Amino acid sequence: MQDKIDHLRTLPIPAQSLFIGGAWQASRNGATMEVISPIDGTVLTTIADAGADDVDLAVAAARAAFEKGAWSKAAPAERKKILLRIADLIDKHALELAVLGVRDNGTEISMALKAEPGSAAGTFRYYAEAIDKVYGEIAPTAENVLGLIHRAPIGVVAAIVPWNFPMMIGAWKVAPALAAGNSVVLKPAEGASLTLLRLAELCAEAGLPEGVFNVVTGRGAVSGEALGLHMDIDVLAFTGSGPVGRRLLEYSARSNLKRVYLELGGKSPNVVFADAPSIDQAAKVSAYGIFRNSGQVCIAGSRLLVERSIHEEFSEKVAKIAAGMKLGDPLQLTTEAGAISSEIQLKKDLGFAEQALAEGATLRTGGERILQETGGFYMQPTVFDVTPDMTLAKEEAFGPILSVIPFNTEDDALRIANATEYGLASAVWTANLSRAHRMVRDIKAGVVHVNTYGGADNTVPLGGVKQSGNGHDKSLHALDKYVDLKTAWIQL
Ligand code: NAD
Repeated sequence: MQDKIDHLRTLPIPAQSLFIGGAWQASRNGATMEVISPIDGTVLTTIADAGADDVDLAVAAARAAFEKGAWSKAAPAERKKILLRIADLIDKHALELAVLGVRDNGTEISMALKAEPGSAAGTFRYYAEAIDKVYGEIAPTAENVLGLIHRAPIGVVAAIVPWNFPMMIGAWKVAPALAAGNSVVLKPAEGASLTLLRLAELCAEAGLPEGVFNVVTGRGAVSGEALGLHMDIDVLAFTGSGPVGRRLLEYSARSNLKRVYLELGGKSPNVVFADAPSIDQAAKVSAYGIFRNSGQVCIAGSRLLVERSIHEEFSEKVAKIAAGMKLGDPLQLTTEAGAISSEIQLKKDLGFAEQALAEGATLRTGGERILQETGGFYMQPTVFDVTPDMTLAKEEAFGPILSVIPFNTEDDALRIANATEYGLASAVWTANLSRAHRMVRDIKAGVVHVNTYGGADNTVPLGGVKQSGNGHDKSLHALDKYVDLKTAWIQL
């Protein structure tokens, strides 16, 4: 497979356009943006920098397709066929898609293969298979009336997604929205548009009618804002940072009160008790739970809370694993952590490390930019001992930086774990079943892993509490975001 990857990475990538109404179109204003590869800092290609009028056009195409009904009114079994074809096409082009995505955002290829095309194909298949098994309801009314509850597609869904795992996260929104019969306008992040543009092509090849799926690329502050403020978008599904999530709520309030679903950041606690079933396994999984994709994972276990009796031994084990990880060229199958997605993000990550030192944190390993000679953006996996009041214990770095905090008792662990404005993910390592269940009950987070970290699938929801968001991707529950409940009240 390495041979094929080595070939695919050399292929030139043509300048990219917008995908609107089933056709490739340049931006009305002719503006473009360079795509810089984080692998070596070279310019890969350009994408269109859409303006508000491009967004208008995409929304109009989506609305027209919705009203026409070729998709929105198609029998669920018909929609299922096309969604399954999309999944098959993603599988067929999996390696090409994975390499394209890695050239764009720097995720290590071994992970990208599973988490990007692999996961996206599975998500399209999951919602394809689900959609002809979702029934309406008959309300338990009095005998002389019939109350029917229909699940109707809503209309035009905008999806705005981040640069980490664009295909996986894109599919989490696009697949259920399409399955439910909606039209979609997708805006990828500036630094990870290429695979989602290719997805648009595959959707067309699979037979998705024109205008049902549109992709507008460009700057968040321009095309993203235009989507947020648009009067003809019914639902906005977002994954990204808290500050942008806040803006989207404001845009909704200032425009048409579109529903806004937010999947935001995290500062997830990974709590290790001295009675963890295997300390070695816990250390290994904890290290990979933060450092895979160089920490650019929303659910990354970025706060490691360790029971004081094993704090030193455990932290050293994690630091040793971190220091021994194979870093570098993300297109090598053996690489364990690839590039930081952009120079801006790398500077942010290094800034967090500098600030931690300035605040008195103790560096166990890492902290430095590496492989600068490649022209790419790489940082060592970094482990700091911190106190709960330090910036690194509170703010999401979204990079390869782990903060370690000791605790004394279960109550102490819970207090520190919940002392955050976020509530996305968490983990607890213990052999004590009752304690595991107490922690599952009491940690305020959308997911609590027990004796593992990460690794869920489409069958379970992913969503945050507190300032980590208000919606859930994945599982049958995600379909609820993309349907209206409509009542028919019939006098008999
Ligand atoms: P970001 O918020 O900067 O950007 C996300 C998207 O919003 C991009 O497409 C961007 O172009 C767009 N955007 C930016 N400004 C906008 C504006 N004013 N109006 C409309 N759209 C705008 O986030 P990012 O840096 O791309 O991604 C990292 C963040 O995403 C982290 O906080 C991470 O935790 C979070 N994330 C969360 C999940 C989850 O499932 N909860 C998953 C992955 C990433």
